Amino acid sequence: PTPGSGAAAQVDTFIKENKVAVFSKSWCPFCDKVKQLFKTNGIAYGALELDQVEDGPALQDALKERTGQSTVPNVFVNGEHVGGCDDTLQAHSSGKLASLLNGGGGDAQHDYDVVVVGGGSGGLACSKEAAVQGARVAVCDFVKPSPQGTTWGLGGTCVNVGCIPKKLMHQAALLGEAAEDAQKFGWSINTPTHDWEKLVTAVQSHIGSLDWGYRVQLREKRVTYLNAYAQFVDEHTLKTVDKKGKEKTITSRYIVLATGGRPRLPDIPGAREYGISSDDIFSLPHSPGKTLIVGASYIALECAGFLRGLGLDVTVMVRSILLRGFDQQMANLVGEHLEKRGVKFIRQCVPTELQLIEEGPPRRVKVLAKTTDGEVVEGEYNTVLFAIGRDACTDNIGLDKVGVQLSPKDGKVVCTPDEKSTVSNIYAIGDVVSGKPELTPVAIQAGRLLARRLVNDASILTDYANVATTVFTPMEYGCIGLSEEDAIAQFGEDDIEVYHQYFTALEHTVAQRDENGSYAKLVCCISQEYKVVGFHIVAPNAGEITQGYAVAMKLGARKWDFDATIGIHPTVSENFTTMNVTKKSGAESKSSGC
Ligand code: FAD
Ligand code: NDP
Repeated sequence: PTPGSGAAAQVDTFIKENKVAVFSKSWCPFCDKVKQLFKTNGIAYGALELDQVEDGPALQDALKERTGQSTVPNVFVNGEHVGGCDDTLQAHSSGKLASLLNGGGGDAQHDYDVVVVGGGSGGLACSKEAAVQGARVAVCDFVKPSPQGTTWGLGGTCVNVGCIPKKLMHQAALLGEAAEDAQKFGWSINTPTHDWEKLVTAVQSHIGSLDWGYRVQLREKRVTYLNAYAQFVDEHTLKTVDKKGKEKTITSRYIVLATGGRPRLPDIPGAREYGISSDDIFSLPHSPGKTLIVGASYIALECAGFLRGLGLDVTVMVRSILLRGFDQQMANLVGEHLEKRGVKFIRQCVPTELQLIEEGPPRRVKVLAKTTDGEVVEGEYNTVLFAIGRDACTDNIGLDKVGVQLSPKDGKVVCTPDEKSTVSNIYAIGDVVSGKPELTPVAIQAGRLLARRLVNDASILTDYANVATTVFTPMEYGCIGLSEEDAIAQFGEDDIEVYHQYFTALEHTVAQRDENGSYAKLVCCISQEYKVVGFHIVAPNAGEITQGYAVAMKLGARKWDFDATIGIHPTVSENFTTMNVTKKSGAESKSSGC
């Protein structure tokens, strides 16, 4: 405030200039609590510390005169008095804060401020956050059945047919392995047998509770949920059709596409009729039996890992390489571990036809395939699972009608770094965006930050660099940043130093499993003071380990930051703090002791 302009006028100006105005005192814990509430919800606010300005007492008197409240914090939203700390927290939980932020009506021209198409990881995050920020929000979510007729509820891929059931089945497989190992640790366990139906029931029941939780959250945050398929009429208008065929038209200032993707099936005879995909496997009512998995990326190898871990006969048909895009040394290690556990691989081969031998369950299907040498390969399986990639859901929603440009490379939405499409009020997040990692936390982060920018003039963009990820095969593979190949391509071989270490995880010693089968590698850029540009680990619990190091990578850690860190002994992760063998040295990188 400008001195001498009158306390009441100064208070007035501050309230006018700040959508959220907090009159505070720098030492006051209640003021901190209120500021923390705004910070954690990404709501921009202005704070005036009355103990740090000359005419603080006069301003406080003016506030008392205006509101009857003599204490701090004293909070105003969009010019309206909210009150003190308790009042603000209460307004937040009741939704009053959101409606005050929204200015009591928003854009009168449209039914909503934000409509999100797709209620998966990104869509739910975006719609809930936009509502918290004060917008009038609706989310449309509709699941088209898979060719095998599988369908599911709210929450999208991750919860229903992706990360969650996959990780639970991975855990089921690890438990089988642990039961074997337990005997070496002195437990008497009869040979464990596995009940597929019981696993599917337990997994589906957990998913059911998550679906229900999402509905409750949407209701609590006052997001309108439309269980309906949405299509563009024009850039502000959507036609929605529910499962009874009932149509509705809604308009919105902003429309966010979060429609994700669905598994691709090959265009070969019998694939749609007798093949399944990841959309079907997690709710398959009977054991898949002898299984062929076609594809060699994340989904293929993860499914191979857990199905084999559950005791099934599993074969993976690989067209070219394992885990395209990943560090190939690590990808091959993942493959070796799968092979050691009994997964069979048919390399350089693609299926050409599926023929039904006998209806099931489980079915008997004959698979005809061809290698790159032209050799014909035949096999009989109960289940053929295609994991050959996913197609973005950008078809049949009228994007051409409104001028949203799709990339010819992957059919996904072309976006600017702030997730804006080629139409100024239409945005896209998650798997449907061209050139971005297809991962749940990426979709969530993009959705949340976009909502803050759309509703409340925030400016933080999603940082898509150095996103950590893990392939949940029996020996997990976690990585952050560049593969060794990409680092060499980017910086040149002379500028890259690779530190590496093979080791035996302590839990595998007594279990007599995977001697020197774990491996860790740091790819460093010499001219950038040995900045770690690639982090890779194949080991038990690699997912948990990698998540922690992602923070170090975000902070630009150098090799000596890893060296200066004292490890936790005895852990797998401590290997990153003691690495001193470089690949260029050619020295032994297998460990032999503690
Ligand atoms: P989705 O979650 O796919 O949600 C899109 C929603 O929009 C769906 O419900 C869809 O039915 C709906 N929809 C589409 N079109 C319309 C329309 N016109 N109208 C209304 N609704 C519509 N990621 C990880 O981070 N970790 C993992 O471990 C992991 N494991 C995975 C395992 C498998 C088997 C799969 C398939 C994926 C896995 N992923 C994993 C990837 C992750 O699931 C996706 O990146 C994430 O779900 C993408 O979220 P999204 O919001 O973009 O789309
Ligand atoms: P990808 O697109 O990553 O890989 C497709 C695989 O199928 C490749 O191995 C490819 O081989 C092969 N393929 C493609 N077409 C054919 C064909 N016609 N015949 C035979 N093989 C073929 O797909 P995914 O479905 O595995 O994964 C999709 C995305 O989901 C991933 O990018 C990932 O981001 C996400 N995801 C994340 C997970 C995690 O975080 N743990 C787990 C699972 C999925 P080629 O190399 O020869 O092209």
